[in-house]
Amino acid sequence: MRSEADLHCQVLVVGSGPAGADLARRLARSGVDVLLVDRLSDLGRSSFSSAALPIEAMDAFALPAEVVGSRWREWQLIGPGDATRRWGSPRPLGVVLDFGALRQWLADQCRRWGGQVRLGLQAVSCHQEDDRITTVLRRADGSTLRVRSAWTVDASGHTRALLGDPPAAGPRDGLVRAAGLEWLLRVSPECWQPWADRLSFCLGSDWVPQGYGWIFPMTPGVLKLGVCRLVDTQRDQPPLGALITDLGRRLLGTGPAGAPFDVLDRHGGLVRSTIRRREPHRRGRLVGLGDAVSTANLLGGEGIRHALTSSVVLTPLLVEALGCGGRTACQDRALDPYPGQLRRALGWRWSLSGRLARRTWLSLHESRADGRLDRVLRGLESSRAEDLSALLFGYRFERYGLRAMPYLMGWR
Ligand SMILES: Cc1cc2nc3c(=O)[nH]c(=O)nc-3n(C[C@H](O)[C@H](O)[C@H](O)COP(=O)(O)OP(=O)(O)OC[C@H]3O[C@@H](n4cnc5c(N)ncnc54)[C@H](O)[C@@H]3O)c2cc1C
Repeated sequence: MRSEADLHCQVLVVGSGPAGADLARRLARSGVDVLLVDRLSDLGRSSFSSAALPIEAMDAFALPAEVVGSRWREWQLIGPGDATRRWGSPRPLGVVLDFGALRQWLADQCRRWGGQVRLGLQAVSCHQEDDRITTVLRRADGSTLRVRSAWTVDASGHTRALLGDPPAAGPRDGLVRAAGLEWLLRVSPECWQPWADRLSFCLGSDWVPQGYGWIFPMTPGVLKLGVCRLVDTQRDQPPLGALITDLGRRLLGTGPAGAPFDVLDRHGGLVRSTIRRREPHRRGRLVGLGDAVSTANLLGGEGIRHALTSSVVLTPLLVEALGCGGRTACQDRALDPYPGQLRRALGWRWSLSGRLARRTWLSLHESRADGRLDRVLRGLESSRAEDLSALLFGYRFERYGLRAMPYLMGWR
């Protein structure tokens, strides 16, 4: 017997992060009856992402100036040890987004194109009956809402609320986890100036073992200070809170109690991705999107561009599937190309960089690895800032000789 649903729509999108909100706005623009939900009651809060992007991403994904916190034109790599290296460009190389503003803008676009957005709803389960899927959503007061749709999209990020964690086919196929912590700091103009206009990363085991630290300019007088590292169950890892406190003290002086900075917000989160991305992207009428199907890249903990790429790939396929009506074979044919198309859109370098990330970060806990990293960075000193962007955002390792990489990174 069919249960009665509270709401009906063609597509329910669970999660209003970059992936889900972007998909919802694109579907709404295509005339699809879409409902976007998020467990957050305010998309401007819990802005856990540091949100650094290359400048090209702004045009590629048609993002407006209002979601930009600041622009940057220089890379600064501090460490291993006391070494500081800089690569500058006369032109802006990228932006630091206001992540909360990005989510709000995307959801707002969805509304403007006629889609529905409902906040404060947490998806807890879903089940398929014939050609429809029913998703159960829980409100903060514990009451539930059932939504019946032709498709439900799990865009809940690394939590994979509906799809669940992928089964590991082999020991190297499981989820690799990175944990990050970030503080939003108000600083004096004198303290802000040295970090303005540049992305600064701290590398080396004496800064953040098995990871890296960063300072990004958010808006004038406000900096993002963060640490991120791969989770290694084989080792005792120091708490992230101690690492970020130490980083703040070493780079900016005292705090949080004393001058020169006030902590405006503390947030953190996980990035969890498989390296090979061989997991199922769909179960019947349930489809995964963004971090929920491992689009986040572990080299720089970077996932916004890739989450947006996944929505660009999925939108036309879903629109085509909706055109099939109830014909299951036709719908399957429409959605079957999704994993392959997404893999091609991310590119072969995506997977290579994930393998490199696992090797590099996990081994970065002793001086031998610091020495290797130092040699790699020394080799990059004569490069242009644009080349560094191509390496760190475009994963163009082959420019430096693919055959040399395994030696450089200590694979052989
Ligand atoms: C500390 C940190 C720093 C980062 N820095 C960068 C960076 O500089 N650049 C970059 O590109 N990427 C960065 N990332 C990664 C990036 O933020 C993610 O890859 C990206 O946000 C993924 O987008 P998404 O839409 O797939 O998932 P998310 O952004 O995680 O969005 C998922 C949404 O689903 C909602 N949700 C979860 N479960 C449920 C549920 N059961 N029901 C309803 N809603 C639910 C969540 O509230 C959330 O809004 C960082 C990540 C972290 C943790």
